[in-house]
Amino acid sequence: TTLTVAIIGRPNVGKSTLFNRLAGRRLAIVHDQPGVTRDRRFADGRLGDMALRIVDTAGLEEAPADALEGRMRQQTERALAEADVALMLIDARAGVTPLDEHFAQILRVSPTPVIVVANKCEGRAGQGGLMDAYGLGLGDPVPLSAEHGDGLALLYEALLPHE
Ligand code: GDP
Ligand code: MG
Repeated sequence: TTLTVAIIGRPNVGKSTLFNRLAGRRLAIVHDQPGVTRDRRFADGRLGDMALRIVDTAGLEEAPADALEGRMRQQTERALAEADVALMLIDARAGVTPLDEHFAQILRVSPTPVIVVANKCEGRAGQGGLMDAYGLGLGDPVPLSAEHGDGLALLYEALLPHE
């Protein structure tokens, strides 16, 4: 069976980088869902022997500041509704920000299981943010570097119970 995984988080935490990494080169063709929204991208992907349908969320980058919160909630809830599991990314180098807390609030009341991913964890610069991520109240964070491909085995392990 295919696990549908939604990648969620504030702009610039590395959602699209992770999406592209999981989608792989031969699956670079991303089909838009006509008539739905351009805020989400879908791809088939693979992590080890695990078949994934990956959902990338975006569009918040262009939202005016006063519309950001509502837009974020609406888009996140849509992605959660169709996902088996959500990956909530934070930028471990930046630590947990108020916007991250806002996402965490939405995710805490959602029935969709959540895995917190502390991205940009290569080297030592992410260690503080990784510790902060425990405080989100969404379980043990998975340290990852989407850019370098580090931590994918830990992500696999975290996804396994949801398969
Ligand atoms: P999105 O807005 O959440 O989709 O974030 P992007 O995937 O567009 O990435 C935002 C920035 O973070 C880009 O400059 C990426 O190259 C960078 N980035 C993504 N993943 C990593 C990572 O694992 N480590 C570091 N150092 N930078 C990363
Ligand atoms: Mg993006």
